[in-house]
Amino acid sequence: MNSKILFLTCCILFLPFSQGCSKRNDNISYYVQSVIGDVIQLSNGKYVGLIGSRIPKKNEPNFRPYLEENLKGRILNKSVKLQTVLKSKPGDKLWYPQIDLVALYLEENGKRININKELLEKGMAFFSWELFPEAKLYQKLQEEAQAKKVGVWSERDKFEVLYVTRKNWKGLHFPECPLVENLKEKDRIDYYIEWPIMIGGRGLSIYRCKFCAKIAEKKSVTHPSSSK
Ligand SMILES: [Zn+2]
Repeated sequence: MNSKILFLTCCILFLPFSQGCSKRNDNISYYVQSVIGDVIQLSNGKYVGLIGSRIPKKNEPNFRPYLEENLKGRILNKSVKLQTVLKSKPGDKLWYPQIDLVALYLEENGKRININKELLEKGMAFFSWELFPEAKLYQKLQEEAQAKKVGVWSERDKFEVLYVTRKNWKGLHFPECPLVENLKEKDRIDYYIEWPIMIGGRGLSIYRCKFCAKIAEKKSVTHPSSSK
């Protein structure tokens, strides 16, 4: 119930935003100059981030080198086109402050490939929860990759679980939370990246159970969207 209300609130808050700012810049080609995690520098000097598809950042060692190298191999020094899905505004508390989040397209053998989706399909990035029109589809691509055990999902045992959540609940438990033990396998989702749930990236704090709130206090963890 809570998650339903939260979802509706998000829709009301962000629908005008996502509709107004989703635009196709299909016809302009950019050259990819550098790749730092999932932040991409284009030939015009501009930085963009991948919508819905996350590569861990520097302070998140889990999987980072592997995923960053894969993404570099796909797009570095290549020509791409992009669709701006979430446009940044001054003062936004985006994951990456003030960069646009885009879908990236690569032309290859006459095909137009959406790189964000490809990364999720191949288990080469983590789904992130920005609120955007195709979010459900992106999430499904990750679930399929998990079921097929491709990419990172083939070797997840090697990496540390940072957070655990329950399907259809937009909150996070720490793995040591006593409630995690009670989760059924089919309902449990493990996260290997910091702050995987950034609802719209804009200022809504995540839900925590009362045990995790205590654990967070002890760890002095703050959510980027809750700090001012
Ligand atoms: Zn908890």
